[in-house]
Amino acid sequence: MTQQNTDTDNYLKCREAEQTHVCAQCGGNLNTIWNAEKNNYVLRCANNAEHRGGKRKETDIEVIKRGEASTVIGRGVQENIEKYWQEIPSANPLLPKADTATGVVISSEQMQGMVKFAESVNLKAYLGHVCLYFGKPYVTIDGYYYLKNVLGYKFAIATAPMTPEERVSYMVAEGSHAYLARALTRGGDEIARGIGIVTAEEINEPSKKHPDQFASPVVHNKPQIMAEKRAEWQLMQKIIPLGVKPKPEEEQPEKTLPDTERAEKDIATFFER
Ligand SMILES: [Zn+2]
Repeated sequence: MTQQNTDTDNYLKCREAEQTHVCAQCGGNLNTIWNAEKNNYVLRCANNAEHRGGKRKETDIEVIKRGEASTVIGRGVQENIEKYWQEIPSANPLLPKADTATGVVISSEQMQGMVKFAESVNLKAYLGHVCLYFGKPYVTIDGYYYLKNVLGYKFAIATAPMTPEERVSYMVAEGSHAYLARALTRGGDEIARGIGIVTAEEINEPSKKHPDQFASPVVHNKPQIMAEKRAEWQLMQKIIPLGVKPKPEEEQPEKTLPDTERAEKDIATFFER
């Protein structure tokens, strides 16, 4: 008989995730339940106990960046917002103002370069689809989600903190925040994964310019969210091709693997802990 798990830490983490995450497969609420088999608290989709995986709740801004406003908020909303921001770029809060890594203000030449780069991969700089990182343009997580929608990929993205076993197999140092992001078919099978780690050194790294401040306040204050986003970004960057033009609606093939019985293999998510 296994010993009763009295680790309230996991319970609290699950309760916290109820507020910040939804079911990766249907977008429904998550509930914390006791799983006797796992001897631990786990998260379950409120709509369907078979569903696997959680994902970050989308903010309104993320909905717009991902091109989903007309579906989520109301008909024509996405088109209206995009038209407005194209006409009045100065009012657009989604255009990055500074280099993500260095904080240096983006010059107008750099901005032109970002706009060109975004167009070359069928994305829109005015929707925040690209950022500048040490002077080089990169596609953002929301840019990749936009492409996923445009290209008709049906897989779900699920994220979860690494389990103790996963931390060992990925050789994660103590004190680091570590997440796994998984692309799941509708049947719940994993087709790809990304890892995201924020190390203890990074969290407390002082700024070179202002040693009394942190090098990255975002990393310092929200290391777990940064680790989760890094995992998502790495996964998206692996599986979403850049520069592919979507085919007309009727020619679009189904891009996921066919629905299969959910494999009983360990898809380690919150649910499997
Ligand atoms: Zn669900």
